[in-house]
Amino acid sequence: MIRIYQAQDLPQAQLILDLLDQHNIQALLQNTNAQSAMGELPFTHAYPEIWLKYEKDTVQAKQLIADFEQPISHEQWSCKSCQELSPVTFDFCWACEAPRD
Ligand SMILES: [Zn+2]
Repeated sequence: MIRIYQAQDLPQAQLILDLLDQHNIQALLQNTNAQSAMGELPFTHAYPEIWLKYEKDTVQAKQLIADFEQPISHEQWSCKSCQELSPVTFDFCWACEAPRD
């Protein structure tokens, strides 16, 4: 088993588990609440961890999680020609095709 991700909280961990499940990647949720086997680490807040069942899924799972974590931008820019709003990912106005700036 491969540890792929440490979530901030349980709901976030569950979202990622669902995401992986939708792509037929088998993963398990592990809680780090359990004592460290080494017994040397200081106690810290326990975060839920996502573990992959199969190592072959590692690359795909990492990509899915990276996409998941990417904030969706809702920023827009206003066209100087027609004043329409276009997403920041557009270099040209969607309405009149005027270039941005
Ligand atoms: Zn325009």
